[in-house]
Amino acid sequence: MNEIKLAVLGTEGVGKSALIVRFLTKRFIGEYASSSECIYKKRLSIDGRQINLEIFDPCSQNLENKSSLIDQVNWADGFVVVYDIGDRSSFVSAKTLIRRLREVNSEICKRDVTSVIFLVGNKQDLCHMREVREEEGLLLAGENKCHFCELSAAEDHQEVGTMFSKAIRNASGNRRRRPSGSKSMAKLINNVFGKRRKSV
Ligand code: GDP
Ligand code: MG
Repeated sequence: MNEIKLAVLGTEGVGKSALIVRFLTKRFIGEYASSSECIYKKRLSIDGRQINLEIFDPCSQNLENKSSLIDQVNWADGFVVVYDIGDRSSFVSAKTLIRRLREVNSEICKRDVTSVIFLVGNKQDLCHMREVREEEGLLLAGENKCHFCELSAAEDHQEVGTMFSKAIRNASGNRRRRPSGSKSMAKLINNVFGKRRKSV
């Protein structure tokens, strides 16, 4: 059984929870609890392979908090970095986030992190309020050799599904050996949460 862990990152309000819920349930419910972070778990089959998927949904993203980023880089096999095409500041944050993911990654291990980053411009349905052109997203992804798409969690569950499936495939090519057994897993997850709680 393959275990794949994705962390969905990006500033508050860009639609991280909406994308995850859309992928896992095919539903868009409009309002999402934002007071607590969580890890969603789902068993699914991709390319005929059974996968135990875990998706980390942070409640807020503190770009300055390096220790939480290190935890996330250690924990995750792949990253979905989300911005809102109608909010330029969220795009600037996504840019920073990708740079920091690369920095942290090169400090703590040798794998190339960029191939497992998926940059996502969300809220494409609100294109009349667009502040970030699609070419800018493409360019940022090109510069960092990561994947890119624009989509809408509100409008289209198929594109959201396709994006997550690609992210899972990319991440599964990147699996590292990690301690097995539920105890060590609990410890890993505890580390992710324990440290963050302290830094709040
Ligand atoms: P998070 O803080 O990144 O988890 O953002 P949420 O998932 O809570 O979404 C923030 C707000 O944006 C909510 O009101 C969502 O309904 C809304 N939202 C999320 N995705 C979309 C989208 O694709 N289109 C539109 N129009 N609204 C969206
Ligand atoms: Mg959320």
